[in-house]
Amino acid sequence: ASREFQEHDSSFDLGHGVRVGDGDLMMIAGPCAIEGEDVLMEIAKEVKAGGANVLRGGAFKPRTSPYSFQGMGEEGLKILRNVGDELGMPVVTEVMDPRQVELIDKYTDLFQIGARNMQNFNLLNEVGQTNRPVLLKRGMSATVQDLLMSAEYILSNGNKQVILCERGIRSFDSSTRNLLDLAMVPNVKSLSHLPVIVDPSHATGRPDLIPSMALAGIAAGADGIHIEVHNCPEKALSDGQQALLPDQYAEVIKQIRELAPLF
Ligand code: PEP
Ligand code: MN
Repeated sequence: ASREFQEHDSSFDLGHGVRVGDGDLMMIAGPCAIEGEDVLMEIAKEVKAGGANVLRGGAFKPRTSPYSFQGMGEEGLKILRNVGDELGMPVVTEVMDPRQVELIDKYTDLFQIGARNMQNFNLLNEVGQTNRPVLLKRGMSATVQDLLMSAEYILSNGNKQVILCERGIRSFDSSTRNLLDLAMVPNVKSLSHLPVIVDPSHATGRPDLIPSMALAGIAAGADGIHIEVHNCPEKALSDGQQALLPDQYAEVIKQIRELAPLF
């Protein structure tokens, strides 16, 4: 992952003509969880119109409580694939366990490794043996070095397509869900050739803070932004309290497009 190993920025294809790392911004958006085909299609159409180029949605959800909605499983994966193909968008979904890699590989364009599994080394080894790009999220108590070492697990297995994601770290302050470590972006980009994106949704947990933190992420040098969007946040089955409405999302992306050329 180190710049000492490779000086130039890594870039690669994500599917449907979308690339990351070449100056193109990776704009991931969608609901926290896939809840059904109609809902996902509606949200996906709106985020696409708003400027998203990668569709997200969880089918296997790492919920804090085992009694919370755990995701639709394979049925959800089929829905995600259909909607992505219909709209011409690459899709990303979370894999939580090495035993799910083969199944999820059939449906997704990118694997997401969530914060809770950043150091699930068996999982990292398993996705490292595929040819799919991996979106690796920073663990909630992981140092930058820990994150880079987790990336090494994937890279050293032969898969060179790793995207790092800052999604906030735990802090003593409960006024935001996590603490967004924006300095991590230029910090990691000077140490590593891998693309880095920012997820202000899980970092702040607050729709009122997401737009400014998304812009700040781009100003800090991020290669993309990951935002959760729902057309009816109060009915969302997961993370509704932090979802942006489609109109709010479109406004952020418009502002990012104005700001990005300045950096
Ligand atoms: C998610 O993207 O929905 C998610 C669970 O994120 P994280 O792993 O960053 O908490
Ligand atoms: Mn979520």
